[in-house]
Amino acid sequence: VKIVTQTSVLQKTLRSLRRKGRTIGFVPTMGCLHEGHLSLVRRARRENDIVVVSIFVNPLQFGPREDLKTYPRQLPKDIRLLRGSCDIVFAPSRTSFYPEDFSTFVEVRGLSDRLCGHSRPGHFRGVATVVAKLFCAASPDRAYFGQKDAQQVAVIQKMCRDLGFPLDLKVCPIVREKDGLAMSSRNLYLTPSERRDAVVLFQALKSGQHLAAQGQRDAARIVRTLEDFIRRTRTAKIDYIAIVDPLSFEPVKTIARQALLLLAVFIGKTRLIDNAVLKVT
Ligand code: AMP
Repeated sequence: VKIVTQTSVLQKTLRSLRRKGRTIGFVPTMGCLHEGHLSLVRRARRENDIVVVSIFVNPLQFGPREDLKTYPRQLPKDIRLLRGSCDIVFAPSRTSFYPEDFSTFVEVRGLSDRLCGHSRPGHFRGVATVVAKLFCAASPDRAYFGQKDAQQVAVIQKMCRDLGFPLDLKVCPIVREKDGLAMSSRNLYLTPSERRDAVVLFQALKSGQHLAAQGQRDAARIVRTLEDFIRRTRTAKIDYIAIVDPLSFEPVKTIARQALLLLAVFIGKTRLIDNAVLKVT
């Protein structure tokens, strides 16, 4: 694996590979890699000649009272994990990526203000800005994102459409632990007993899917049932439960055929998100 820390070096390296006709697959991450990230990297490996993974804890997407300082960082281990499946790791320093006079931001209006954007003001502006800047640095043919962060995918898709980034966005399925908990770097924050409680998110999604499969079309009723269910776990505090249209992310009242069930729940101090498709048959 080649480690690159300067944007200009990345651009120069990739330019010469592109000239030789190589296709480039790009996986943006904040590091502390787990199987969820690695599933994206492996897919990029299958579909491209060159695989670039960025590892950068993006300060712009953290709120002032969030976990920027404590977010887990393990660059040497991440690089070991990427051996064999990735050609270039792009790991810029904060100051080289965002010089002191940095003042340009990308805002995807509307979509960014709801759900996670409502709980985390400025979060999606930070995400869209870093991803746009990373796309300019890597100019990939394909970029890989996880369905785990469903709203993030929707924001990036919209940004790519609006600004005309010439690349294919690939969305990869959620990778879970054995008990169903969606893999996340933030799972490391959980104490052993919180870790056991955290499975409540997955169980709630399953029970939402079950209700829809049995014919329940009333979104509010499903949400209420899941609220009651999650509240039975003492360490759990609901941030939001929402049922939305999978494309527009607008809330739905009645589930027509398909909808997306989204959860954000604190387990102790750790905010976890997860989602699943609801199908009414
Ligand atoms: P992060 O490092 O948390 O910013 O995540 C980097 C990418 O990995 C994002 O596109 C995430 O959606 C994706 N990702 C994180 N966790 C998972 C997971 N459990 N399954 C699939 N993709 C994931």
